[in-house]
Amino acid sequence: MYYVVGSGPAAISCVQGLVAAGKKVTIIDSGISLEETRQNELLSLKETPYSEWSRDSTSFLRQGMSSGTSGIPLKLAYGSDYPYRYATGAIDIDCRQVETKPSYARGGLSTVWGSATMPYRQEDIEDWPLRIGDLEAGYRAVLGWMPLSACTDDLAKFFPLYTDKSIPLPRSRQASGLLADLKRNQKTLSAAGIHFGGSRIAVRANNTSTGPGCVTCGLCMYGCPYSLIYSSDQTLATLIKSGMVDYIPGVTVQSFEEKDNEVIVHAVSSDGGKKELRAERLFLAAGILNTTTILLRSLEMYDTDVTIQDSQYFLMPLLRLKGTAGVIHERLHTLSQLFLEVFDNDISPYSIHLQTYTYNDLFLDPILAILGPLKRFFPLEAFLGRLLLFQGYLHSKHSASISTSLERTKDGDRLILQVKPNSDTSRMVKKLSMKFAKLVPKTGLIPLIPMIQMGMPGRGFHSGGSFPMRLDPIHGQSDLHGRPQGLKLVHAVDSTILPSIPATTITYTVMANAYRIGASISSVV
Ligand SMILES: Cc1cc2nc3c(=O)[nH]c(=O)nc-3n(C[C@H](O)[C@H](O)[C@H](O)COP(=O)(O)OP(=O)(O)OC[C@H]3O[C@@H](n4cnc5c(N)ncnc54)[C@H](O)[C@@H]3O)c2cc1C
Ligand code: SF4
Repeated sequence: MYYVVGSGPAAISCVQGLVAAGKKVTIIDSGISLEETRQNELLSLKETPYSEWSRDSTSFLRQGMSSGTSGIPLKLAYGSDYPYRYATGAIDIDCRQVETKPSYARGGLSTVWGSATMPYRQEDIEDWPLRIGDLEAGYRAVLGWMPLSACTDDLAKFFPLYTDKSIPLPRSRQASGLLADLKRNQKTLSAAGIHFGGSRIAVRANNTSTGPGCVTCGLCMYGCPYSLIYSSDQTLATLIKSGMVDYIPGVTVQSFEEKDNEVIVHAVSSDGGKKELRAERLFLAAGILNTTTILLRSLEMYDTDVTIQDSQYFLMPLLRLKGTAGVIHERLHTLSQLFLEVFDNDISPYSIHLQTYTYNDLFLDPILAILGPLKRFFPLEAFLGRLLLFQGYLHSKHSASISTSLERTKDGDRLILQVKPNSDTSRMVKKLSMKFAKLVPKTGLIPLIPMIQMGMPGRGFHSGGSFPMRLDPIHGQSDLHGRPQGLKLVHAVDSTILPSIPATTITYTVMANAYRIGASISSVV
């Protein structure tokens, strides 16, 4: 039996590849799900026509998510923190100036992600032992089961769409206005290395036989009531229903031992009992922190420093010269609306990825908190009609990384994550903001430079590379099938094996690569 650990995007893509290769698969997963009370509240909301939804009937979705002056809070799903809740047998993680979390949820972090979906570019992965062409089949296959809201525009020249079935969501008026401004100056912006277009997000926009499409209710940040934002637990449900895979939730893998022709998997059940499974092959897709832990423990690499690479995340608020009236009452989606990609060797030889967010109700609290008693005199609506947010990412080469080690303590193992700063990071974000400051007449956007916020390493959740793929792997590196050096039957298939982390979104490439490994398994010796 082939066992896959996890049910996040990497696991499900690997399973799809294995199934395409004709293999029978069992998924083992910590598999924590949304609480039943919230599932019932969600069901009842879905059964109510959208025209009858009120602030009260949707208030459970907003629970636990308020934004202060320190920025956008950690995203929850349907008012629940279940995507981040610890499972029995989970590793103790000590974050030191690092801000990240593992997931033990059915669907992993895709239950809560922003669904931004952009492939990598050859120029950004020159240090990889793969070419972008090696990922193409995976990029296409993924869009066979994951919806994409996107359109063909200037960005497709650099980042192919890999599907002709994408349907765009309606754009907000602020985003449409900005896009029109940018298009008017496309030639100049292009010469300055700024390319832009509609966002690409894994959202089903249209009505289907299974349910309505997007009703522009603006609740995306809290969890889509109609589950239109893709989560890999949706594909898991389809796979289970089709009888193509077996699924065993409530099992948290601790370690494995590779014998001559089998792998013995050691795990803990949700009741605390020990479990042992025997696998023909084992595929680890437990997310960067857990796959790294399982490998360090199984390979007896205690107290060994391994580096997790991270793509630096930052927030840059901007004011648009032209305002848009009535954004507070506008029907819109609140995921990323536009993507801007910056190619400028004076800043970085790699792409810089900027996701543009227009009004959503989480913008309100930080502004009101800053204004305090002055809020009565402040033209809040006019201000919000001009306010936009870039959520930006840098290539890992220019980002802080995370020094990681597994320690044995008297209370059990502990994973220690410590920051390794990179002096390039703030210099590059500063140069980028100055670039936008100079281009105000062409973009109509004023960057609010003093309000830029740099995320702590790990905060963008675009991290990986602790056992990077290499053509000739040495200790602590993996081959092109994700097998850490010395192993024949155990494959890491998530971001653990990425050689570096470009700025454009990580998950789509993790999925394409996991599919590649699964689908090519018959050729592995
Ligand atoms: C708020 C937020 C927004 C994000 N937005 C985006 C975005 O817009 N675009 C993007 O590309 N990425 C985004 N990401 C990152 C994205 O969610 C992750 O890259 C992606 O989910 C990683 O997939 P994965 O399958 O490798 O791991 P995960 O999604 O973490 O899944 C791990 C799986 O393994 C299981 N598991 C874990 N440990 C064990 C164990 N020991 N034994 C058994 N099972 C185990 C879990 O139950 C889970 O099913 C975002 C993340 C967050 C938190
Ligand atoms: S606006 Fe967001 S939450 Fe509302 S239906 Fe559309 S995708 Fe779902």
